[in-house]
Amino acid sequence: MKSDFIPYGRQYIDNKDIDEIVKILKSGWLVQGPKIEEFEKAVAKYCNAKYAVAVSSGTAALHAAYFAAKIGFGDEVIISSLNFAAASNIIAILGGRPVFVDIQKDTLNMEFKNLEKKITKKTKAIVPVDFAGHPCDLDEIMRIAKKYNLLVIEDAAHSLGSEYRGCRIGSIADMTIFSFHPVKLITTGEGGMILTNNKKFYEKLKKFRHHSIVKKPKKGGWYYEIEEPGLNMRITDFQCALGLSQFNKMKEFIKRRKDIVAEYNDTFKNINGIIIPSEREYIKSSYHLYIIQLDFNIIKTSRKKIFEELQKRNIGVQVHYIPLHLQPFYRKKFGYRKGDFPVVENYYKRAITLPLFPKMTGTQTRRVIKTVKEVISGYM
Ligand SMILES: *Cc1c(COP(=O)(O)O)cnc(C)c1O
Repeated sequence: MKSDFIPYGRQYIDNKDIDEIVKILKSGWLVQGPKIEEFEKAVAKYCNAKYAVAVSSGTAALHAAYFAAKIGFGDEVIISSLNFAAASNIIAILGGRPVFVDIQKDTLNMEFKNLEKKITKKTKAIVPVDFAGHPCDLDEIMRIAKKYNLLVIEDAAHSLGSEYRGCRIGSIADMTIFSFHPVKLITTGEGGMILTNNKKFYEKLKKFRHHSIVKKPKKGGWYYEIEEPGLNMRITDFQCALGLSQFNKMKEFIKRRKDIVAEYNDTFKNINGIIIPSEREYIKSSYHLYIIQLDFNIIKTSRKKIFEELQKRNIGVQVHYIPLHLQPFYRKKFGYRKGDFPVVENYYKRAITLPLFPKMTGTQTRRVIKTVKEVISGYM
């Protein structure tokens, strides 16, 4: 990486984090040790959830949640077309059908208004994502799910620490999943977690993480039984030591993200042609991502051109995400087409993610602002 390149997202690891990892490496407990439960308890308590299960990635967390929800062959799962690939890919791998829906223009989250029309006898669950950190309309989605006896699995990979109507994300949906990938709110390297208030789900998830092996010591010290399938989705103890250490700094991480967002908004809200992210009054976002939309009626060029010019000036912009229903696999396998979901398709043409991470300095923030202004003014 060039020294003046500013990536769109990045971990913040300090010496305290490193000391915590080293302690575990020296202790001898590399896997299935005490740090895992300590990390799970800390996150569950913070999110007001009864139970938490830490696993090897956010993707594994989704997979485990789908297993607990008994999603399998022929089942339909309703999901926003604007999401990372994991949540819909696993549905397809399990033999199910992802039923995509469009997004809301302001929050970029799942539009709930036409949700009921998508529900069939085969529908098992709704999987909303809290896009960029902004919680989705949980009350409405939960109400619809309850009415049709469906489960809600919230993909909260972007929204650890975010709040919905005064409630921290993590205890509202039937199951909530987090990711601890380095660009997310806190990191364990790779890692993820499922939160739930349902004891049955909790027990299933915990077993699934470790091959669904159940020890029966009464029948002998070696004896175990397998009553359903499982996988190795274990996370290591040193990862959880890192996770705990990161978790203790999360408040400062989020504060720094919000300060940068405020600085970005202050400038960009006054620039004709730039649409800044919106925040409903009843939510608090942890701001995993900062995404602007460009109005190409005013800025006379293409998104590709702006993207390339910013990259050339070492601003690590990104695009989150290409609508899932437009991906070759989902078109071919499930018959989705261009034009199916106009709001997300329009968003996709205009979106650019700007750098945002807690270690970003004031100088870097101002450089991003200055460069964006320069590049755009060349096309006005
Ligand atoms: C990162 C992410 C995931 C997957 O998490 P991993 O830890 O990378 O497996 C799932 N959903 C969303 C919305 C994500 O951003």
